[in-house]
Amino acid sequence: MDSCSANRSIRCSVKQCRHHCENQDYCSLESIKVGTHESNPTMTECTDCESFAVRSSVQG
Ligand code: SF4
Repeated sequence: MDSCSANRSIRCSVKQCRHHCENQDYCSLESIKVGTHESNPTMTECTDCESFAVRSSVQG
């Protein structure tokens, strides 16, 4: 999507997210929220982008 306004401060490779700029590895949001699903996070995999929203075309 050429109209996507990439936020150069937020790199992201999650193409399934509706906020991702498909042809560029950036998020289009002004800011995001990162959180964790662990009680004691110890590695990258423990953290989550809580602003993620699935693209409707990816569902099902
Ligand atoms: S909201 Fe999170 S997962 Fe979605 S494009 Fe932005 S940084 Fe990536």
